Amino acid sequence: MNQYMEQCEKYVLHTYNRFPIVIESGQGVYLKDTDGKEYLDFGAGIAVYALGYHYPGFDEALKEQIDKIMHTSNLYYNVPLGGAAEKLAAVSGMSRVFFTNSGTEAIEGAIKAARKYAYLKDNKTDHEIIAMNHSFHGRSIGALSVTGNMHYQEAFRPLMGGVKFADYNNLESVKSQITDRTCAIIMETVQGEGGIYPADDTFIKEIGKICGEKDILLILDEIQCGMGRTGSMFAWQQYGVRPDIMTCAKAIGCGVPVGAFILNEKVAEASLVPGDHGTTYGGNPFACAAVSRVLDIFEKDQIVEHVKQIAPYLERKLDELVERYDCLAGRRGKGLMQGIVMAEGTKVGDVVTAALQKGLITISAGSNVLRLVPPLIIEEKHVDEMVEKLDAVLKEMCRDK
Ligand SMILES: *Cc1c(COP(=O)(O)O)cnc(C)c1O
Repeated sequence: MNQYMEQCEKYVLHTYNRFPIVIESGQGVYLKDTDGKEYLDFGAGIAVYALGYHYPGFDEALKEQIDKIMHTSNLYYNVPLGGAAEKLAAVSGMSRVFFTNSGTEAIEGAIKAARKYAYLKDNKTDHEIIAMNHSFHGRSIGALSVTGNMHYQEAFRPLMGGVKFADYNNLESVKSQITDRTCAIIMETVQGEGGIYPADDTFIKEIGKICGEKDILLILDEIQCGMGRTGSMFAWQQYGVRPDIMTCAKAIGCGVPVGAFILNEKVAEASLVPGDHGTTYGGNPFACAAVSRVLDIFEKDQIVEHVKQIAPYLERKLDELVERYDCLAGRRGKGLMQGIVMAEGTKVGDVVTAALQKGLITISAGSNVLRLVPPLIIEEKHVDEMVEKLDAVLKEMCRDK
């Protein structure tokens, strides 16, 4: 184990303070490190491994595609591309898909599509985008520019211009930023990195209405909250609102690096055309074979239905912990995207570290939230095991209320 860690610390650019374990393999909802220690995984590689490790039929699809071809470039058609896009269009009810290799690239594409749409309407180049405070959309310059975290932005200025920030779940704050140059409003349907904040029902509905009236494009970032995690294929489907542009990544490849931005008909008809946008890898046969099989499995095995069934059990068990321990202040979340808010004086990093030692993987979010984003295939017994481990951690760190 030390050998792998030392090697990484010597040669990999130090942009992460990693936990001192080396993960070697996974099976179902468990991970194993190089010492053979097992971990119950309530992080899923940051909400990526929706189907857990080695879900029946998934690896086979990847292996079959490897044996045929992994990459072709976008100069030619390939076999899995159209099917993957058709399935994504079907589950989203949207029109056209552009595949990327990551979430941040999906955001870049969404921004470009929105700007081009506005440009085609008035030929101007001074359009504005409204983004939310405490949002997270990625680390490339465009995505960073709409990420409402000044700490992430500071050293990298000047960023992309024309971005204004408003408070999430505060309609007046958003309204006050709208001008006749506003071309898009971008937000996560459930804020993830910022601390697991679901959108309020009226907030997102009103935003949708304003966008419709003013022909401002609504960009919903479903990179973390999408793909069944909240109990519907996409979180916005529970709100009765429709994005003009949606971004996906994380779970759509279940471990294969792939993202997408998806346009509704209105935007697809009047935005990006040949020459406007491109990618060497994006939409390659390997990534698309993964997306295609993931979506097949979601349908065949009713993964979203399973989330709806299991989520209330998880919520109930977490609420019991919150009721019991003085170091827990509350719970927020939707479906299998849950956050436990730490009370003042309790460091979430200490809880994550102690849980890891007890064989439980969790992730922090914001400054004081313990994030639980397990594979969507967890059963009640896994929730029980998680609670048992977390309870053992909290017993040592907190007092009864
Ligand atoms: C993770 C994430 C991104 C960035 O995705 P990457 O694949 O890391 O570039 C963007 N938006 C949200 C909501 C995310 O959770």
